[in-house]
Amino acid sequence: MSKLTEEQLVKYLANDGEICPFCSSKDIDTDDGFRVYEGRVEEEKLCVKCKEDWTDIYMRTTVK
Ligand SMILES: [Zn+2]
Repeated sequence: MSKLTEEQLVKYLANDGEICPFCSSKDIDTDDGFRVYEGRVEEEKLCVKCKEDWTDIYMRTTVK
């Protein structure tokens, strides 16, 4: 797993996580679904094109 640069991270978040942060491909796989922790969910992502992987982290911000 390569480390994301600040620039790659900002771009990734600006695109709602729909493109690979390393090569901008839209061919993204989810590795093994979701892992649920207290107050947060993590999702493994894998780029089919450049084979880089990373983890999306979702935090609970509020309820209503
Ligand atoms: Zn990629």
